Amino acid sequence: MRSMSEGLGLQAGPADLLVSLIAETSSLTAFGADGVRQRGACPWHPDPSESLFTASGVWHCFACGAGGDAVGWIMRPTL
Ligand SMILES: [Zn+2]
Repeated sequence: MRSMSEGLGLQAGPADLLVSLIAETSSLTAFGADGVRQRGACPWHPDPSESLFTASGVWHCFACGAGGDAVGWIMRPTL
């Protein structure tokens, strides 16, 4: 079990940075067999259904069409 936790530690990178940023405003839920993709509520439109998807350090909202990387998330104006 020690080697497993060390392996997870080595995976910390841009994808986890983005997830932690999004988690400040939205709750994310992992889905899919690999657990890499996550979905949550997009904070930039009135009906924040689970239209926001993120995987491998990029994000996209299928409701409002917004998307980008971690920098794009930071630069988006908040409501
Ligand atoms: Zn949206």
